[in-house]
Amino acid sequence: MNQLNLLWDYQTADIEVENISKEIKRSPNRQQLVKYRDSLLSLQKNLARIEDEVLAMQDRLEALSDAVKMTENQIQGIQEKLQAKEPENTEETERYIADVKRLINNLNDYEAEIKRIRTDSNEREKMQRDVKLRAARTKKEFDKLKEVYDAEFQQMNERLNAAKAVADERAKPLSQAYLDKYQTIKRHSFPPLAKMIGSQCTGCNMSLPSGVVKDVQSGKEVECETCGRLLVYSE
Ligand SMILES: [Zn+2]
Repeated sequence: MNQLNLLWDYQTADIEVENISKEIKRSPNRQQLVKYRDSLLSLQKNLARIEDEVLAMQDRLEALSDAVKMTENQIQGIQEKLQAKEPENTEETERYIADVKRLINNLNDYEAEIKRIRTDSNEREKMQRDVKLRAARTKKEFDKLKEVYDAEFQQMNERLNAAKAVADERAKPLSQAYLDKYQTIKRHSFPPLAKMIGSQCTGCNMSLPSGVVKDVQSGKEVECETCGRLLVYSE
């Protein structure tokens, strides 16, 4: 057998390797697992975002609680001042009243905001629970399917390794130059070798010039001008 025919046999084994690899990648179980994993990742992202929001709310609540304390102290300060010494005139009284009114308004604003944040925060906690529940369910489904897929994968992987072993064996009598050529063509056309039947390349179904046909028939190494595949003569 010449190198070209040996390379043809190698290609047959290589096609089997590619087919099994594709089968592994296209496995519905594997694709479902990828979906589960993606949805788990997005749930985790969601959870992290909610946690950040809750943290920001807690910070704001602390700041508001400090502001409330400060304002209450200010009001108390004014009360103490008034108890120690009564205002001397109406103007002073009005100033005190205005100050206290302003401070009470501030207090009301703070309390309204605190209430709003508490409501939001409760909502976030409910969301957190929901997301966690969904994540736990998805993880359970993932684990269940993973077991099934692992067994399936082991089987397919054994087939793949057997096919690879056949390909490796068939590569042994081939020169490195031929193997390199095969790999180079494989990058743009698969399978890289095509039989020539009559004057046609079976890789792309184009007719070949008579000069090329003769070269292929005489066993020369010729690539199809259209698809770049290495042509193998077939009677
Ligand atoms: Zn062709």
